Amino acid sequence: MTTKILISACLLGNPVRYNGSSKEIDHPLLAQWQREGRLVPICPEVVGGMPTPRPPAEIEQAASGADVLESEVRILDDQGDDVTASFVTGARLALQLAQRHGCRFALLTDGSPSCGSREIHDGSFSGVRHPGEGVTTALLRRHGIEVFAHTEVDVLAKHLKAES
Ligand code: SF4
Repeated sequence: MTTKILISACLLGNPVRYNGSSKEIDHPLLAQWQREGRLVPICPEVVGGMPTPRPPAEIEQAASGADVLESEVRILDDQGDDVTASFVTGARLALQLAQRHGCRFALLTDGSPSCGSREIHDGSFSGVRHPGEGVTTALLRRHGIEVFAHTEVDVLAKHLKAES
């Protein structure tokens, strides 16, 4: 059976980022995987009920997505509004979609409070990043789905090859 990959919708050119832009990546493997029907796109923040555009949001206190899932910290937008519930809803819906399609892997946009897998912003809205993961990534990993950053297409390709 073809191994499917959950993918951040913005990486496929969908303008769903907080500022209404996309983060399309031009990689021949992505085009190939799309032709093979492997890619399952989702924007956790949009399906979680957030509008586009929307205020930027960060996980507070330089914490990480796992801390949000444990209800130890919140996700706040730059106006100070608590948007945790929408982000957690989006993470749960992303997990459901991944499980419905049998995704073993995810390729997500790094740096995002939802999709980050290597680093995220520190909650100060000053552009500072620290090692950590977003809330969707944390939930997917908790359920055994391997998450790769958008900069790791080639690494993911090696894992796919090892599966086949
Ligand atoms: Fe892209 Fe993920 Fe942010 Fe949606 S939540 S815009 S898919 S990085």
